[in-house]
Amino acid sequence: MRFTRLVLILCSLVTATGASAQQPAAAQPPQRAIVNVTGQLYRAQNNNHYTVFLVTPDGVIMSDPINRDFGRWLKAEIATRFKVPVRYVLYTHRDWDHASGGVVFADTAEFVGHVNMLAALAPPAGNPPLPADAVKIDANRNGLVERSEAAGQYSDRFAMFDYNRDGVLSAAEIARGSVSDVHPPTVTYTDRHTVTLGGKRVTMTYLGSAHADDSSVLHFPDERAVFSADILQVRRLPGGLAPTVGSWIDALTTITALDFEHALTGHALSGTKKDAMQSLQYLLDISKGVAAGIAAGRSLPEIQKTLTLDAFKGFERWDTIREAHIAAVYATIAGARPSASTGQR
Ligand SMILES: [Zn+2]
Repeated sequence: MRFTRLVLILCSLVTATGASAQQPAAAQPPQRAIVNVTGQLYRAQNNNHYTVFLVTPDGVIMSDPINRDFGRWLKAEIATRFKVPVRYVLYTHRDWDHASGGVVFADTAEFVGHVNMLAALAPPAGNPPLPADAVKIDANRNGLVERSEAAGQYSDRFAMFDYNRDGVLSAAEIARGSVSDVHPPTVTYTDRHTVTLGGKRVTMTYLGSAHADDSSVLHFPDERAVFSADILQVRRLPGGLAPTVGSWIDALTTITALDFEHALTGHALSGTKKDAMQSLQYLLDISKGVAAGIAAGRSLPEIQKTLTLDAFKGFERWDTIREAHIAAVYATIAGARPSASTGQR
């Protein structure tokens, strides 16, 4: 049976009649949808985050759970529509905004992630410095963020940072990140790993150190599709080029070496292999442009002014992030440490 591209479900939460006009923005129901990509492969949306799932006669292979609330919704949708359980959750990487909430599927699923996910999810250790945004809110200057001091991301996700649930965030807990609701992988791999179920295959390939050191690209060979969150983008520049532009070139080279037509992303637009090739081209062009500028004796501000990368003008974030990318590449090539840009997606 062929499935046409269609939106199956738009919204899951029903607001009480007449109440929505009075609600503050935070009470808006999340925008959710399930769209068929090809065959039995679907892309599911939770606001600006996306995951994918493949339906087989023996169950579902899905990627990131995103969060518990979305996971519960997706689990119910899959059960209603396809009458099979989720058998595998394949993680793209450990970041809280993609990997949280997997426990919802723990009754039926195996969880697969790159082996570096285990270290990232290990208990907080060491004595790192408090990051600048935490120093700013540490009113009593005791090097900790108490619940009463918490603001911004620390108040939004206090419980997800507070590993030992003592009501106080240590620098080590902050360095570990708000990953307390990430269900750890039950199966890990190092270079490449294939999951088979119901006559279907999905292969995970390690992407190296770009963005996070535990990133995987999922390849659906029969559907000729790939899924990658945060590294693969369509007509959208990366949030940051940490740790180096070279690591990003390596990751996009690994992705584009796969055989696919559908380029499925964790945020915003999806596209085709041509889009993935353009993302790689951006990285090559910015590297070449910065290197040429340095060789010609130009300063960073001069390079930022002249290296406009006009071929990517229509890309999301071209106007807001290009100069920061140039600065990061400049720092790498000039041998300085690139400025920290963790948490960028
Ligand atoms: Zn991420």
